[in-house]
Amino acid sequence: MLLDATFRCCYCGGEIETAVDPSAGRRQTYTEDCQVCCRPNVLHIVLEREGNGLVALIDAEPESDLE
Ligand SMILES: [Zn+2]
Repeated sequence: MLLDATFRCCYCGGEIETAVDPSAGRRQTYTEDCQVCCRPNVLHIVLEREGNGLVALIDAEPESDLE
């Protein structure tokens, strides 16, 4: 089952909806293109327990910051 989550695009500031696959691990990092401006955001995702479920906390950063 996928978790619905949102992040804020670090280029245009738009609120982007995404879906996180919990089976890929508690911590995940991958690149997702903004649905508004199509620029690549690197998402650092941490899954945390909330009640009986999980929530996905997402930090987005520009892809160019990765060295
Ligand atoms: Zn954007």
